[in-house]
Amino acid sequence: MNRAEIVIIGGGVVGASVAFHLTERGVRDVLILESESRQGRGSTGAATGGVRAQFETDINIKMSLYSIDFLKNWEFDCEYDPKGYIFFATTDDQFEYLERNVRKQRELGVPDVDIVDAAEIGRIVPGMNTDDITGGSFGQHDGFVNPLAIMRGFTEGALRGGARIEFGQEATGFRVEGGRITGVETTDGMVVCDTAVVCTGAVAFELAATTGIDLPVTPQRRQIVWSRTREPLPSDLPMVIDIGTGFHFRPAREFTHAMGSGPKPPYDANRRDILFAYPDPDEPTSVSTSFDESFIAKVYERAKHRADFLYGSEVVRQKCRAGLYENTPDHHAILGGCGVDGLYFACGFSGHGVMHSPATGRALSEIILDGRASFLDVSCLSLDRFEKGEQLHETAFI
Ligand SMILES: Cc1cc2nc3c(=O)[nH]c(=O)nc-3n(C[C@H](O)[C@H](O)[C@H](O)COP(=O)(O)OP(=O)(O)OC[C@H]3O[C@@H](n4cnc5c(N)ncnc54)[C@H](O)[C@@H]3O)c2cc1C
Repeated sequence: MNRAEIVIIGGGVVGASVAFHLTERGVRDVLILESESRQGRGSTGAATGGVRAQFETDINIKMSLYSIDFLKNWEFDCEYDPKGYIFFATTDDQFEYLERNVRKQRELGVPDVDIVDAAEIGRIVPGMNTDDITGGSFGQHDGFVNPLAIMRGFTEGALRGGARIEFGQEATGFRVEGGRITGVETTDGMVVCDTAVVCTGAVAFELAATTGIDLPVTPQRRQIVWSRTREPLPSDLPMVIDIGTGFHFRPAREFTHAMGSGPKPPYDANRRDILFAYPDPDEPTSVSTSFDESFIAKVYERAKHRADFLYGSEVVRQKCRAGLYENTPDHHAILGGCGVDGLYFACGFSGHGVMHSPATGRALSEIILDGRASFLDVSCLSLDRFEKGEQLHETAFI
């Protein structure tokens, strides 16, 4: 019978990080179960690779500070590129909200985050219509990473530390005896273990339900339009986000740096490829990841007002894509244990799982091995916050 001390269910960026951090702490008998034939088929493969510390809540800001620092200084090259994030406001209320956030971000130690006026935004993003902009915030250490490279780095590190990964192994439930985990049931039989960590992304609620746990993680499709502009984009173009509507755009990146692939492609200084999207309020709960062509017209409608270089760009249809967000009611992750001893969750990132994967892996390793995370207090992200009515409040999500 298959056995492991700790079973990680799901081999995306989060499962890989949890495995890596456990092996860093000296646990060698770690098994990652991945239902697909290779990694990266879940949300991690669809992510656009934004990282930012510009959040509203203390916990999201602190998770980002730790994670950005980790990614910046990691010996593994995850292609951290600090091009920055601009959030812009079109009403006074939105602008005051950004001012409050910047004050808090600075208090918590976020470097180089500033309030900028419309003229400054226009200088950073030439060609953008700033007529209706009341102001914005610019975080210069925010930027871009390669999600597949992060997943690869964590996986390779975990395997070096003694972990194993098995593909085509779908977890279907748990063996629970006397209120604690004694095994994970899979399509290939039982894996005996003392500890299991659910890192199955947007479908984590399915496995939780097999032990009667109502995990408030809801899958929702997110679509991205990939286009090519007529002129080269400014080489320092940041991520640009309308805080009112969530409409955003950023230079596009090809992520071919997956497990088993060759060297990363050369950087294209003359690039014209751009991604743009917005959170469609009409998008229902579903596990659909098919790209819906009608989304293109909706996005272009929003682009029309914002910039000619966006509106005049040409869609690269074969590169448009969709993936799943894993939303929780308060748009914060669920990290830690539950009513079943030895069963842990790391899910519900609500679109921030790549950027928060370093802090998440460390937190889970400390919670499992020490009973609590000491590098950062993540207790506000526990599952029981929903029962206790202690939900968090974050509106700076896209
Ligand atoms: C369009 C889009 C853009 C995004 N952009 C960003 C961004 O800019 N920055 C950011 O930080 N985040 C972004 N995200 C969110 C990010 O992709 C996720 O938060 C993150 O990838 C979650 O990682 P994960 O490992 O938890 O989930 P996943 O990557 O989904 O991995 C879960 C794994 O579990 C496996 N699995 C599922 N069920 C089982 C089972 N029963 N047994 C075994 N294995 C199972 C799946 O095959 C999968 O490989 C974006 C998401 C989308 C869709």
